[in-house]
Amino acid sequence: TAEVVPQAPEDPLFGLMRAYRADQDPKKVDLGIGAYRDNNAKPWVLPVVKKADEILRDDPELNHEYAPIAGITSFTSKAAELILGGVDSPAIKEKRVTSVQTISGTGAVHLGALFLARFYTGKKVYLSDPTWANHNQIFSNVGIPIAKYPYFSKETRGLDFEGMKAALHGAPEGSIILLHACAHNPTGVDPTLDQWKEIAEILRVKKHFPFFDTAYQGFASGDLMRDNAAVRYFVDQGFELVVAQSFAKNFGLYGERAGCFHVVTAPAPDAETTIARIASQLAILQRSEISNPPLYGARIASIVLNDPKLFAEWEDNLRTMSGRIISMRNALRAKLEELGTPGTWNHITDQIGMFSYTGLTEPQVLKIRSDFHIYMTKNGRISMAGLNTNNVDYVAKAIDKIVRE
Ligand code: PMP
Repeated sequence: TAEVVPQAPEDPLFGLMRAYRADQDPKKVDLGIGAYRDNNAKPWVLPVVKKADEILRDDPELNHEYAPIAGITSFTSKAAELILGGVDSPAIKEKRVTSVQTISGTGAVHLGALFLARFYTGKKVYLSDPTWANHNQIFSNVGIPIAKYPYFSKETRGLDFEGMKAALHGAPEGSIILLHACAHNPTGVDPTLDQWKEIAEILRVKKHFPFFDTAYQGFASGDLMRDNAAVRYFVDQGFELVVAQSFAKNFGLYGERAGCFHVVTAPAPDAETTIARIASQLAILQRSEISNPPLYGARIASIVLNDPKLFAEWEDNLRTMSGRIISMRNALRAKLEELGTPGTWNHITDQIGMFSYTGLTEPQVLKIRSDFHIYMTKNGRISMAGLNTNNVDYVAKAIDKIVRE
């Protein structure tokens, strides 16, 4: 009976959002959720998305029939090109990719986890410490045991590369290694391309299985091709791998749940038949989970991805978002340094993407919330998009006060 169902804790991030909404102070600042905001702290509908929406609505043939089980192919094929680096990707040329449209990035990670739980049994997944909190829940839910690899160095507030390499070396052969393709959440710290090459070498020697999660392509550097460099490198090295891809952030389609899951098999004479078998199993899993993926977000993305002119506009919109975030990084660091706030603040501009891992401790995070109405996650992560020219000085002064206490 229902008595056996215990109360579950509220999701910390969505709990934080609720507390922010309830706060009546006019100076309140939301640095919690990883969603882009414009300089007036408002959600931003990308102009290119507005155009695609008009095109969609003007289409007299438009209907609301089911999408195919694997989704809209005009969307999934372009999504694969986007993350694999275009039609010249060896994986695409050799037809070694299969793609399934998913419920955004979360659904893609879940479908990937479910697939591996079925067909790559007895393995652990190694997650970066820290990682996006939902990774833990998603892999636990499908029964894949979780281990961690060190990632963030508290001393340098950069990558703990030696710790990471040692853990990957020490992991049992054939482990699943979850890697953030770019703009690591929550730290904003990415390996350099040379470090990625070393990571790839360890994975090759240890026969580990790379599971890429990409939720910020175009958001990190503002350059889509630069942000997929790690995935491209692994594919060029002939790895068998999977990619969970979200279009929530880079298209601003958060609630529309547009995403993809891709499997790339290793180069082999029978790769095409292997990929067909994999596709058939993914279809079965998808059918039992969601039957057919949602249309709207995928249609919008597909219109943009298939039209060179709109694509160029999208790149421009991405540069607007990443550019504003970078200018806020510079402003926050400059202000803290001007105030002479104890500590070093170069990590604010060294880290990339949506987030910065400030180094504030949990008591400091709680204090800045109660004293200054500034909301961030307990690990001291701030969403850079929550900063703007109206509040960055206020936030810097608040951090300064809290750090000095
Ligand atoms: N992976 C990572 C690392 C993320 O940060 C996110 C978004 N917070 C996702 C996946 C998936 O998000 P969504 O389901 O909204 O696409």
